[in-house]
Amino acid sequence: MKFQLDHDLHIHTQLSPCSSDPNQTPETILRYAEEHGMKHVGLADHFWDETIPGTTFWPGYAHISKWLPLPESPITKMHFGCEAEMDINATIGISRKTAEKLDFIIVPTDHLHLVGSTIRQEDVGDLKTLTRLYVERWDILLNADLPFHKMGIAHLDGICLHGFKDQGTTRLEIMESIPDDEFKRLFAKTAKLGMGVELNVPVSCYTDEQLDRALRIYRIAAECDCRFYFGSDAHHPKNLEPAYQNGLMIIDKLGLDEDQKFNPFR
Ligand SMILES: [Zn+2]
Ligand SMILES: [Zn+2]
Repeated sequence: MKFQLDHDLHIHTQLSPCSSDPNQTPETILRYAEEHGMKHVGLADHFWDETIPGTTFWPGYAHISKWLPLPESPITKMHFGCEAEMDINATIGISRKTAEKLDFIIVPTDHLHLVGSTIRQEDVGDLKTLTRLYVERWDILLNADLPFHKMGIAHLDGICLHGFKDQGTTRLEIMESIPDDEFKRLFAKTAKLGMGVELNVPVSCYTDEQLDRALRIYRIAAECDCRFYFGSDAHHPKNLEPAYQNGLMIIDKLGLDEDQKFNPFR
């Protein structure tokens, strides 16, 4: 059976500083999920565990848990998750103990554009450094002591390159400077640990020809037997529907099958 887009596990609420949208509430998000007949939908606000020394820029557990208990629906199960940040020293902002309190956790290794404790553009500048960091930070995540069975790696094709003129071309340059074998090594370990791979490609940054090249990493991931989940990374209600349509397109282009789905809620 074809991979069903019956979930969205990467949605920010107003609690994420980059949303701050009063309309981006669990209720709005649940309505979106119900309208698409989704079985699962997940809140994934930017997060830094208060018990881990580091930044105070991102919301901690006390902050995001204000949404509990989550609204319920007979169609869609809403899950309490987070997007746990990785800082400039590649420290992951969540402990195993805190992870137990969450339904799922996604980790972005490529937040290279954010303020707070994360890497700033002026610190990394050139593409060679960005490429090195991309691989190094993924490896660090794979060596962490965390419950991988309920974790996903966020937007592997989502390196945000503020300051670069043509983001699509620059992203491709970074991804294409990493050989297939290196991706195979990383994806094989990701699959072995049982961690999900997020389907999240900034389609609008690419021409059709570029999109096909951008999907290369997901083809390698599939070859390595990775499991996939969809994440819209929506920060506002108006982003939800276009991102869902993007998701359908990506799944179609990759020809994914239902048994390639990551489901941390079984
Ligand atoms: Zn992110
Ligand atoms: Zn996000």
